[in-house]
Amino acid sequence: MLDEIFSGKRVVDLSYAINEKLVPWPGDEKWFEARVNASIAKNGYFTRSFWMLEHYGTHLDAPAHFPPGKATVDQIPAKQLFGSAAVIDVRAEAARDADYPLPAARVEEWEERHGRIRAGAIVLLRTGWASRWPNAQRYRNQDAQGKMHFPGFSVEAAKLLIERKVSGLGCDTMSVDFGASEDFAVHHLALGSGLYHLENLADLSALPEKGAFLMVAPIKLEGGSGGPVRVFALLP
Ligand SMILES: [Zn+2]
Repeated sequence: MLDEIFSGKRVVDLSYAINEKLVPWPGDEKWFEARVNASIAKNGYFTRSFWMLEHYGTHLDAPAHFPPGKATVDQIPAKQLFGSAAVIDVRAEAARDADYPLPAARVEEWEERHGRIRAGAIVLLRTGWASRWPNAQRYRNQDAQGKMHFPGFSVEAAKLLIERKVSGLGCDTMSVDFGASEDFAVHHLALGSGLYHLENLADLSALPEKGAFLMVAPIKLEGGSGGPVRVFALLP
């Protein structure tokens, strides 16, 4: 069964490799560092230590990231980390309007074509922004005032998806809230309802709008507000 899956190229890795050259959130002064502790030449084996922000590269926001008293990254039930992907494609809209907020009507339109989004689904917003990665200037798309411009979920869309009891929201941008957001309304709302977020997902273009299955594997960091995450999509 595994041979069949891999030989058919049915697995897509949606996580970026982690190094110091990724795009940090504006204002972060230090984001990643790796040091060699032992080398084969000197010690006969190779080890490193590393330090990084919890929210850097492809990462998961745990519910505890904004509202108090919610699950930390280690407390998210395993069941919530596996689910079918509902991919909402807004590449055309995002190319015209960098501040595009996914309206609830676009979720309903997806449902007209593919059926109601099921409980436990993971909803991914495909904006095409991955093509700008890892160029910080293009990916953050900041204006003269430093405000970022990239698309995201609207509050109304998030509300509808919470009603549908989805497990998480994901995007190929820095944040599920659109870049110019000042109140992070979707963060408060979705995390407050126990959902998690997947941010800075890699190129989503190989995924169908319906039918892929996601395996979401965040670092099990006790007490973490989030952390680096490996996300695999199994294509139908
Ligand atoms: Zn976030």
